[in-house]
Amino acid sequence: VLYEAALREGAKVRFSAEVQALDELEQQALVTTSEGDELFDLFIIADGAASRLRTASGLAGTSSAYRWGALWGQFWVPEWTASDLLLQRYRGTSQMMGLMPTEVTERGVRLSLFWSLRRDRHAEWREAPIDEWTANARALWPEAEPVLAQIQSHDDVAFAVYRHSWPRTAGRPPYVLVGDSLHAASPQLGLGTTLAVQDALALVHCVHQAGPAEGVRAYEQARLQPARVYQTLSRVLTPCFQGDRLGLVRDVAFAVGRRVPGVPWAMKRSIAY
Ligand SMILES: Cc1cc2nc3c(=O)[nH]c(=O)nc-3n(C[C@H](O)[C@H](O)[C@H](O)COP(=O)(O)OP(=O)(O)OC[C@H]3O[C@@H](n4cnc5c(N)ncnc54)[C@H](O)[C@@H]3O)c2cc1C
Repeated sequence: VLYEAALREGAKVRFSAEVQALDELEQQALVTTSEGDELFDLFIIADGAASRLRTASGLAGTSSAYRWGALWGQFWVPEWTASDLLLQRYRGTSQMMGLMPTEVTERGVRLSLFWSLRRDRHAEWREAPIDEWTANARALWPEAEPVLAQIQSHDDVAFAVYRHSWPRTAGRPPYVLVGDSLHAASPQLGLGTTLAVQDALALVHCVHQAGPAEGVRAYEQARLQPARVYQTLSRVLTPCFQGDRLGLVRDVAFAVGRRVPGVPWAMKRSIAY
C-alpha cells in the first residue's frame, strides 16, 4: 500500500542500492551507494534497529541487544477462525507463542509465527531435532497444527534479535533518523510500525513548514520525547512478556490492574498510541 502510494507521489525507488558510506560536503549529505556518490539537502536514515548509518552520521546513542529474541516465520493456512486477532499463548514468561494474521486473501490467511527464544539458546535449538521443538509448541497450542505441520526444518523459521537504543538526537542537518534507527525497541507492544509511520508523517510536515534544516529541528522537538516515553514503557514491560521469571507477577498485576479505573484505558492507549 505504502509502496504504491509513494510511486503515485512521484518517488523514485531503487532496489539493491546499499548505502555504504555517509559524508558531508558544504552542508549537504554526500551519500555513497553501490551506484556511486550523490548529494542530498536532507538524507533520511531508516536502516532499522541495527542501523549502521546512524553511527556513520554521528547520530548514534547507545544500543544493545535483548537477551531474548524470537523464532519467526510466515505461513499460509487455508482457514483460520481468528483472522483479525493476534493470539498468544504463554507458559510463564519463558514460553510464548504468537500467531498474527498478516494477510487475508482467497488463498487463505498468512500467519506470522513468533516463538520466544533466548539468544544464548539459539545454537542449542538448532542442534536439537526440529521435531522436539514442534512437539513442545504443539503441546502449548494444539490448534496451531496447520502452521506447525509446515515446519520440517530449522531453516523454515528465522531468528530475530531484538534491540533497544537510547536516542541522543533525532537528527542534525543534513541527516535525520526515522523508525527503528531512531527508536529500536522490543516489539512486545507492537508499535514499531505505527511509530515509524508517525515519524515519516511528522517529518514531511516539519520539512514542508520550515525547510530541510529548520524542519529537522522541529521534527526533533515533535518526535524525540514521545519516542523516549514509548521506549521506556517498552523496556519496563518487556520482561512481563519474555524473561526467566515474572510470569506470576505479570498475571497478578494485569488481573488486578484491569479492575483499577483508568488502567484499561491506559493499556489500550499504549497499544493504540
Ligand atoms: C519478529 C518481529 C516482530 C515484530 N512485530 C511487530 C508488530 O507486530 N507490530 C509492529 O508494529 N512492529 C513489529 N515489529 C517491529 C517492526 O518490524 C519495526 O518497528 C519496523 O519494521 C521498523 O521499520 P523501519 O522501516 O524503521 O525498519 P526496517 O523495517 O527494519 O527496515 C530497514 C530497511 O533498511 C534496509 N537497509 C539496512 N541497511 C541498509 C543500507 N546500508 N543501505 C540501504 N538499505 C539498508 C533494510 O534492508 C530494510 O529494508 C516486529 C519486529 C520483529 C523483528
